[in-house]
Amino acid sequence: ARRSDSQMRMLIVGSPGSGKGTQSTRLLKEYSFSVLSAGDVLRSHISRRTEIGQRADAVIKQGGLMPDAVMMDLIGSEVKTLADSDWLLDGFPRTLGQAEMLDSMLEQSGKALRLVINLDVPEDVILDRILQRWTHLPSGRVYNLSYNPPKVEGKDDVTGEPLSKREDDNVETFGKRLKSFHAQTEPMLEHYRKKSGSIVDVDCRSNTNPEETAKGDALFVNLKGDTSNQIWPHLLKVVQSRFPHLKSAT
Ligand code: ATP
Ligand code: MG
Repeated sequence: ARRSDSQMRMLIVGSPGSGKGTQSTRLLKEYSFSVLSAGDVLRSHISRRTEIGQRADAVIKQGGLMPDAVMMDLIGSEVKTLADSDWLLDGFPRTLGQAEMLDSMLEQSGKALRLVINLDVPEDVILDRILQRWTHLPSGRVYNLSYNPPKVEGKDDVTGEPLSKREDDNVETFGKRLKSFHAQTEPMLEHYRKKSGSIVDVDCRSNTNPEETAKGDALFVNLKGDTSNQIWPHLLKVVQSRFPHLKSAT
């Protein structure tokens, strides 16, 4: 019953379109654990037309952010229900305020974060990706027409349901999302960099040995790369070495 000592409690952060969802999905194919995606939780509220969903719809279309307290209520309560099981959060926290709320909630239960992965993708490659992205909205699965196309054009690989464009995946809204990333999320990254005793900073474009990336136990790991394929082997190594108890997904 000492599982909580090895429990995976990790964040995946990065600018919009940096591949958070793609990497989380790949990890889920390897290991069994729970993923909570803030964007997916909000999109689910929108499709169920809840009160939060109505608010989120307006905010997301504008490329803005939902209020910290609303996000903390939504995601914090889910994290609590996960208790001792392994989890990864995608897209939450996203501001310094959210990070501080999450940290103090975790501290109260005596469980600090174990790993913060920052996907560091150059801005010039991201816009192109966003424009090429198609999403299966119910599951959050994403496809890219050039390097990760669906098996059948326009259809989700798993359910066969139609793919769509996210309403905020256009040039205008993307510009606003990037701005809010710089203004709101950079200070949060700084917070976790400072919290981390040591920082692992890997250029996945030149460092070809993922084994090297996995050394050490820093809280903050920065993985820089142009594509999800460059970053993936490094991410996998870090997760493997940090959380060796994870069971493989069936
Ligand atoms: P990508 O999915 O490509 O990584 P993204 O991170 O911008 O891009 P989502 O995480 O899906 O997209 O979030 C979509 C939108 O939902 C955001 O632009 C924002 O409006 C809102 N949102 C998501 N997470 C949060 C959060 N933690 N706090 C406030 N608003 C959020
Ligand atoms: Mg996402």
